[in-house]
Amino acid sequence: MADTKYIFVTGGVVSSLGKGIIAASLGKLLQARGYKVTIQKFDPYINVDPGTLNPYEHGECYVTVDGHEADLDLGHYERFLNIQTTKENNITTGRIYQNVIQKERRGDYLGKTVQVIPHITDEIKRNVKSLGVKSKFDFVITEIGGTVGDIESTPFLEAVRQLRWELGRNCFCVHLTYVPYIAAAGEVKTKPTQHSVKELQSLGIQPDMLVLRTDRYLNKDILDKVALFCNVEQGAVMQSVDVSTIYEVPTMMQKQGMDEVVLRKMNMPVEGSANLDAWKNFLQKRKNAKKGVCIKLVGKYAELPDAYKSINEALSQAAIYNDRKLHLDLCHSEKINAENVEETLKDADGIVIAPGFGQRGIDGKYLALRYARENDIPTFGICLGMQCMVIEYARSVLNIPGANSSEFDPKASDKVIDLMEEQKHITNMGASMRLGAYDCAIKKGSLAYKAYGKTKVSERHRHRYEFNNLYKERFEASGMKCTGINPDSELVEVVEVPRLRWYLGTQFHPEYNSTVISPNPLFMSFMQAAAELHDEK
Ligand code: GLN
Repeated sequence: MADTKYIFVTGGVVSSLGKGIIAASLGKLLQARGYKVTIQKFDPYINVDPGTLNPYEHGECYVTVDGHEADLDLGHYERFLNIQTTKENNITTGRIYQNVIQKERRGDYLGKTVQVIPHITDEIKRNVKSLGVKSKFDFVITEIGGTVGDIESTPFLEAVRQLRWELGRNCFCVHLTYVPYIAAAGEVKTKPTQHSVKELQSLGIQPDMLVLRTDRYLNKDILDKVALFCNVEQGAVMQSVDVSTIYEVPTMMQKQGMDEVVLRKMNMPVEGSANLDAWKNFLQKRKNAKKGVCIKLVGKYAELPDAYKSINEALSQAAIYNDRKLHLDLCHSEKINAENVEETLKDADGIVIAPGFGQRGIDGKYLALRYARENDIPTFGICLGMQCMVIEYARSVLNIPGANSSEFDPKASDKVIDLMEEQKHITNMGASMRLGAYDCAIKKGSLAYKAYGKTKVSERHRHRYEFNNLYKERFEASGMKCTGINPDSELVEVVEVPRLRWYLGTQFHPEYNSTVISPNPLFMSFMQAAAELHDEK
């Protein structure tokens, strides 16, 4: 087998240029040529993982099948490549240091002084290479978080510099920069790109390819000028113009020959082309969708769309496969009250009650759920959303006014949602939830079964609290059925109310398992119900 090839993606000028999307698009193109590809993200912050970060800091926390709390870019990698990532695909400075310090305490360094170079950089390099070797990938793409010039990312870039020497032509560097348009001058400016490349060169890294992020088309003269000033081959300067959906980026890059340049420069065969038929079919469907569907997402981070990234993407994929244009409206749960709940939700064809932690905005979620239930609007409760569904149902239908979750009231008279036994003695907050993929047995004949078409599924979790089985019989007798159960622990994973058209909650997060090529069945089924309601109106 040929050696694994390593591609690094760095960014300059400003953050938020979409390095993750460029890395995922390049990965997609190589994968669509038949190569086995994975993508890894290095985050320069000191947190050991992003699980302890709140969404205001870093957007959604993504969860991998093996239970790692990860950066949201891993969600892009999975959605683009239809692969599953693991703990090894997301490494932070904190984790690198934690590993090195553990080795030092064990005495592994045999009395040496432990330093950033070589010990931290060696640990970074080990994490890059072990991913490629272990799973025999043809390509490992590594995205370096942050911006070139940041103090934090320097050790990672030093490791890339060393790897270039070690790997020779098996290593390739892509640098993403920003080309702003200055309205007063009526011109786009390439100077920030030139400075950013200089910064990278001063760290010993010569990029092989540049991707210029821009809000308008750049002509060939500009690309050639950048190539000349930055020591990059003509034809290896790509542009990433703003597009209406991130899913157009792979085809935009393909048109510019991105994958061909990479393969040629890495001494690999360039014949043929990436087969993006299924991908293009998805884009075509998106374009052709005429009818709409209105989904209201009720959560406390309504002003922060990145907080619900995977839900937004899963909804948009499901809408496209149901031939609908999605109108997604984020409703702030803290702002919903008895007076405005109808006004807020009356246009909804479907309602999603978001996951989350803590009491803030909970009452708005109960009001939204009551409105949805009483007006028979398709409703999907995810994790905390499912727990709220259970609590609202207990209070309104089972007549248990004291029903609550012990997360909100540890002294509640009826803890219909309670802390899991194994969570009761946990003191450390990091990586200590019920995390990752667990099996779930789906009851035949249920709505969940109709959606999945099978009795055994596996979905990802991130929670501490759970449905309290002591109340199960009462719920079932009053019309809320437990239709998804963990076969080992008996934990309730899915509840639904069959007398309503689509009213279902999941303790797991199906949004983490929804890709462009393979949308999640529950989201598909929910969207279909919402589309039907839309057409009835
Ligand atoms: N806060 C709830 C729990 O820990 C729900 C978590 C979530 O929505 N991800 O169980």
